[in-house]
Amino acid sequence: MNTFDVQRLRWHFDFARTGRVVTNNAASTQPPRELVELYRSLIPWYENVHRGQSAASRYTTELFELAYDTIAGWLNAPGRGSIVTCRNTTEAINTVMYSLLTEFRDGDNVVTTALEHNSNFVPWYAMCREILPRFGRHVEYRVARFDPVTGQLDLEHLASLVDARTKLVACTGASNFLGTRPDLAAVRRITLASGYRQPDGDHRSLLLVDGAQLVPTAAIDVRALGVDYLAFSFHKLMAPFGVGVLYGREELLNTTRPFLYGGDMVAEQGVTAEHVRYNRLPWKYAAGTPNILGVIVSAQALRLLVDLVAPEPAGYFGTGRPLGRATIERAMDRVAAHTRALTGRALDAVREIDGLKVFGPESAADRAPLISFGLSGWSPMRLAEELDRRGVESRAGCHCATLAHRALGLDPPASCRLSFAVYNTAGDVDRATGALREIAARRLSPAAG
Ligand code: PMP
Repeated sequence: MNTFDVQRLRWHFDFARTGRVVTNNAASTQPPRELVELYRSLIPWYENVHRGQSAASRYTTELFELAYDTIAGWLNAPGRGSIVTCRNTTEAINTVMYSLLTEFRDGDNVVTTALEHNSNFVPWYAMCREILPRFGRHVEYRVARFDPVTGQLDLEHLASLVDARTKLVACTGASNFLGTRPDLAAVRRITLASGYRQPDGDHRSLLLVDGAQLVPTAAIDVRALGVDYLAFSFHKLMAPFGVGVLYGREELLNTTRPFLYGGDMVAEQGVTAEHVRYNRLPWKYAAGTPNILGVIVSAQALRLLVDLVAPEPAGYFGTGRPLGRATIERAMDRVAAHTRALTGRALDAVREIDGLKVFGPESAADRAPLISFGLSGWSPMRLAEELDRRGVESRAGCHCATLAHRALGLDPPASCRLSFAVYNTAGDVDRATGALREIAARRLSPAAG
């Protein structure tokens, strides 16, 4: 059975008592009460990690390190050595950029797509246009198109851009504007066939996947996908703000430059004035005091999600019990089925609205759980404000997917977006689409704003 009792699940979230229609979940999700309480419960033993001999420091260190194991297990990564924690997806992608920076050779290129969030475009732009040229190296970025009608990534165009000088392909797992989910297996095949000569002797391009919109609604197996890097943010996965993850293949993380330099990322006794040795993974990528409680709470968010959608008590939250693949897959299938049904309901309802245009794939099955649209005569911002007046939280703007908005010729490059999470109900969808219907019918100050 792919369903769960959403009303019972909502009881775990404080926002549910406010009457808010929270339909801006692609930006950030709401934290359940248990995670806030977990945060509070860690305070009596509050201490730094890897930096003290007290029982409190040992205890906090153990919880912190176990969090890495939970995250690695969730992604089916081989172990904690392939997990880097940071602030968010943006920092995770910048980590890849800075750690590979010195490896790019003159004449190399990076291929990305027009579906990307700016956090998976601007770092490559800056690297190619602003950083490497100052060191006399010329590296080009190339942007693969998507089909403006279906929103699907143009794999043929992508393949035509990838060549034997493509060090890296940086591709989204799901667009936060169109909802499109590129066929990552096909992208992987393209990277494998490029023939790029990597420093380790491999002949292929690396693949970085921006998982910010994919990881919250799908069970991700980094080994089955064959990705070299995967980035995502926990604030879109029920945890409070502040923690992002970079999965990186261990061999890569071992051989490439660390991103940040300083304390804890160096080996014990590894620093002399002449030479610095770095720490073993994953701590080579953990310079400075990390967001310790945030990481612990974030990993527990995954366990809590499994418990919340399980048909009977599962008891993973608050423990270090290994989560099996089947358990993770079943849980994420339930999350995906629920949010897909809500997306389908929303699509059906808004298609009936005169003057409303939905961007991206026709079917909810081909989307992350979000819909972006425009309403003729309305600027997206005014529309979002009007929705807010009716208690419905949406988001208007370019959603940092500026290239895709431009590719669709939207002027200004903006749309209005509703996005759904595990705690949304059919009632939320009806409130949101009902408000849209009402706004469209009243045609309040058309063309204004
Ligand atoms: N990529 C995608 C696809 C996103 O949706 C987002 C968040 N909107 C990001 C990257 C950036 O995430 P963060 O702000 O957590 O760095």
